[in-house]
Amino acid sequence: MLQKNYQNDGDSIYRLFYDTVKGGDYRSREANVHRLAEVSGNIIDQCVAQGVPFGREYGGLLDNRSFGGVLVSRTFYAKGQTGQQLLLGAYSAMNRQIGKGKIQMFNRHEMVELVKVNGKARGIIARNLETGKLERHGAHAVVIASGGYGNVFFLSTNAMGSNVTAAWKIHKKGAYFANPCYTQIHPTCIPRSGEHQSKLTLMSESLRNDGRIWVPKKIEDAKLIRQGKLNPTEISEENRDYYLERRYPAFGNLVPRDIASRAAKEICDAGFGVNQTGEAVYLDFTSAIKRYGKQEAAIQRLENPSESKIIELGEAIVESKYGNLFQMYEKIVAQNPYKSPMMIYPAVHYTMGGVWVDYNLMTSVEGCYCIGEANFSDHGANRLGASALMQGLADGYFVLPYTIGDYLSNEIRTGKISTDTAEFEDAEKSVADRIHKLINIQGTKSVDHFHKLLGQVMWEYVGMTRNEKGLKIAMKKIKEIRDEFWKDLRIPGDQFSLNSELDKAGRVADFLELGELFAKDALSRNESCGGHFREESVELDGAQKGEAKRNDKDYTYVAAWEYKGEPENSKMHKEELEFNDIELKQRSYK
Ligand SMILES: Cc1cc2nc3c(=O)[nH]c(=O)nc-3n(C[C@H](O)[C@H](O)[C@H](O)COP(=O)(O)OP(=O)(O)OC[C@H]3O[C@@H](n4cnc5c(N)ncnc54)[C@H](O)[C@@H]3O)c2cc1C
Repeated sequence: MLQKNYQNDGDSIYRLFYDTVKGGDYRSREANVHRLAEVSGNIIDQCVAQGVPFGREYGGLLDNRSFGGVLVSRTFYAKGQTGQQLLLGAYSAMNRQIGKGKIQMFNRHEMVELVKVNGKARGIIARNLETGKLERHGAHAVVIASGGYGNVFFLSTNAMGSNVTAAWKIHKKGAYFANPCYTQIHPTCIPRSGEHQSKLTLMSESLRNDGRIWVPKKIEDAKLIRQGKLNPTEISEENRDYYLERRYPAFGNLVPRDIASRAAKEICDAGFGVNQTGEAVYLDFTSAIKRYGKQEAAIQRLENPSESKIIELGEAIVESKYGNLFQMYEKIVAQNPYKSPMMIYPAVHYTMGGVWVDYNLMTSVEGCYCIGEANFSDHGANRLGASALMQGLADGYFVLPYTIGDYLSNEIRTGKISTDTAEFEDAEKSVADRIHKLINIQGTKSVDHFHKLLGQVMWEYVGMTRNEKGLKIAMKKIKEIRDEFWKDLRIPGDQFSLNSELDKAGRVADFLELGELFAKDALSRNESCGGHFREESVELDGAQKGEAKRNDKDYTYVAAWEYKGEPENSKMHKEELEFNDIELKQRSYK
């Protein structure tokens, strides 16, 4: 998502800045977001230069799409694989530097501890995941870029290996952890199919450009659908509730993710869900297929084309735009989404919270930086579509290279950092002791058993909606699961060979601590904002009835938590947010 105004639809740095602050529900740092909007234009040039194959218009110019929460088309894309293609571009550029000997790559290594010397970050302890050997790495500065912690919910759209370990280790060494409760639940995911699932699949947000979201208007129809006695295609237009278009006429299906997700939950909770578990809504391309079909028939100068011809032409256009996503859906759900609407449901996708950083991206540990999704970022309480990579790439390409140089300039006379010191010795020993402890529990339950229990508690009490009672229960339950984990975990194999159960155990142990802080943060923020919806804080009347109610008087701050032993004892530091250029308003997408 980058402002270039190629579509001439009035986009500008200010507009991207405004949309991002508003989209984040006025809980991000204004100055950071403005910087992000300013550098965003460079990112696309950088990526094109790296060879990312962005979608182009017929004339060869880069094309754009619209994403949730905005009314302009500013998202550059590579079919339904933008993230993957950007990653390949970044990997290729990095491999070039590895080839030149400028970067040394340590594959299959995990950062497991931060080493501080005289208060400054001076290196890490890493574990070789193939041999189990612990290694010391000294450095003048440390940069953490270890991604988000959505997998604290067990089920999420994140990669299976995503975890909080690196961020949590630096937190325990003094880096504040900011706004852990700000989590994004993405509205367009393939619904859960059963108890034994370990991963959820995202359908790209781009589908909301053309797909229309609906459920049956009559509850009896929803019941018949769930029983398999009625097909969605048999429900007439007047008996469908396009609830986003009804509730938010200005933005319709393109409302931000938090709003679309909550609306799906509300309608399913009210009994209108359309799969067996009652946790799904339809994403329907029928109108788009007809619209594109008619347009294509006109282009081909076909007179009075038949309905079937229009559908054939329209399906071909939809296939050219979203074919890979449709194919993926069909493979997973075994239904043809061209003929029957897709089913979607919200799933955990992104974490706006993370390690607190200053304007220079330095954490509260001197010399330790944090970039990308791992930091608490510029997205406030909710991230707009396509802006994760914008922020991650901005941090890595256009912010950190300048700010870290400033820090390193004062280290110019510091020689090589020796790893032969008491600080490295102690750090390595603490890691070895912990691994020894984990492997010797020799209980009866697998790592996944505890991870699933944690995920269930998180989803039930700290998921899409939260309340005081539930959050207190969550904190208590997570502590109990953590105690049980350290008593009854069983890790097969040993620590000096490839042992993915041991790797996972270390990560889940950290999730079990983070989860409690997450709930504590949600409990302390008794307002609804962005992805954080407190049932106690809802508009009770007027045009915004039922919508989230922010409390700017008491909560316009970043909650930066300091580690104090047990997560329940963490201490909150408030960073007050100042808004000089944007007026705080209630978000309205109506
Ligand atoms: C399915 C999906 C689709 C998405 N689509 C889009 C999109 O279209 N546009 C967009 O803007 N955003 C998208 N996002 C979000 C975006 O991809 C992420 O926010 C972004 O990749 C985060 O980048 P990162 O480099 O900060 O972290 P990551 O990409 O998560 O990378 C972190 C890396 O650190 C490694 N790591 C973790 N812990 C350790 C450790 N202790 N030691 C060593 N290494 C460690 C991990 O293995 C990983 O390689 C999508 C996300 C998902 C899950």
